[in-house]
Amino acid sequence: MSFDSPRRGSCLCGAIRYELSAEKPVMYNVCHCIDCQKSSGSAFVANLGVHKEEYEIVSGQGTLKSYSTSSTSSGNTLTRWFCAICGSSMFETTTEDKNLVMLQSGTLDDATDWKPVQEIFCVRRRPWLRRIDGVPQYEKLAPES
Ligand SMILES: [Zn+2]
Ligand SMILES: [Zn+2]
Repeated sequence: MSFDSPRRGSCLCGAIRYELSAEKPVMYNVCHCIDCQKSSGSAFVANLGVHKEEYEIVSGQGTLKSYSTSSTSSGNTLTRWFCAICGSSMFETTTEDKNLVMLQSGTLDDATDWKPVQEIFCVRRRPWLRRIDGVPQYEKLAPES
């Protein structure tokens, strides 16, 4: 199976569109933390980390709104960016690594061949949700590597 490059994505209403030129993500986490649950309105998020220069917003930059919090388990300020029109969660940025964009992989137009490499904050995984086979599971954040 082959995938077009750049990969493309958008918010639900289509106001915000982006292109992703990454060959492969620098990280890909399934996160079960309460903040991700609340902000997505779903049971978990699948966060795809790419370098900032590999992520280009091609339309709707002015429609992005953000919400920042520093009450994170790492203590770093995390900013969640979303569409002001339709409310789609688009990506996150963190003061920990200014070159990292963690995009909400559900905003990609097509499925990708990439697969999450770890699950974090499993302590809050919904009891009915099965773990991903062959992928490290961490109670909270992954230990520093
Ligand atoms: Zn939108
Ligand atoms: Zn989370």
